[in-house]
Amino acid sequence: MTLINKSSLVRDLRALGLGAGDWVAVHSSMKAIGWVQGGPVEVIEALIESVGPGGIVMMPLFNIADGKPIDLAVKPTYLGLLPETFRKYPGVVRSPNPTHSVGIHGPGAAEIAGGHRSSTFIGRGSPYHQLALNGGWVLHLGTNYNSSSIIHLAEVLVGVPYLDVPYPGWEKTLSARAADGSTIQAAPKEVPGDSVKFYLVQEEMDRRGLLRKGKIGNALSVLARGADMLEVTMEMLRTDPGCLLCDNPDCRVCPAARKTIEASQAGRRIKETVNGG
Ligand SMILES: [Zn+2]
Repeated sequence: MTLINKSSLVRDLRALGLGAGDWVAVHSSMKAIGWVQGGPVEVIEALIESVGPGGIVMMPLFNIADGKPIDLAVKPTYLGLLPETFRKYPGVVRSPNPTHSVGIHGPGAAEIAGGHRSSTFIGRGSPYHQLALNGGWVLHLGTNYNSSSIIHLAEVLVGVPYLDVPYPGWEKTLSARAADGSTIQAAPKEVPGDSVKFYLVQEEMDRRGLLRKGKIGNALSVLARGADMLEVTMEMLRTDPGCLLCDNPDCRVCPAARKTIEASQAGRRIKETVNGG
């Protein structure tokens, strides 16, 4: 068994394609990486070292909306050991959103986080959007695209008809207190929906040769440019706006989302008849 530690992880991350000054958003599974000598902190330090002092590391710090105002200074994330450790890591700034906050480490972290103040959950100006605009990477460390947040941004940028179909709990304005004590309100607009079919984007990215694949520790991992992920997803959604919705009739959002697509297509047909007649 080879030992997994900070220097072996940095080596793996560099081999995959990360380098000095890069921006990277990480979706991770600590279990998939294997036993790391120094635990989750060592994985975080390896990520920070792989992009150097000029680079940016981001992790989602999402939490469940429970109807109460959320105190972002203390609220844990449900996304697992690495993000929860990252949340408490020195220098990490948590962006102000009631449910979809992002932890950011690196130069200008506070400024990047501030974009979330006027953005929707994963919308224009959010940390993920800034990452894509800056040529940043999305790293799936032992995870697949079903946990990929940036694909929701593609839904927003295309303007799919189902953007305002909320998951139960998101029907009303949510509020949170940021670390600086200010209050953030997030209206139920451009709410992220289902992601069980996001693997289709991964398959399409793979077909186009846009994925870098390798092992980080024991974790099968993929690295891709955020902008490529957006472009491929947007193209798929323009061809078929329902392509990322699931087929489960009991799903809490997809059946309603399909109805909005049908309604918008019916609306377009009426408009064409009127304009054409
Ligand atoms: Zn669904």
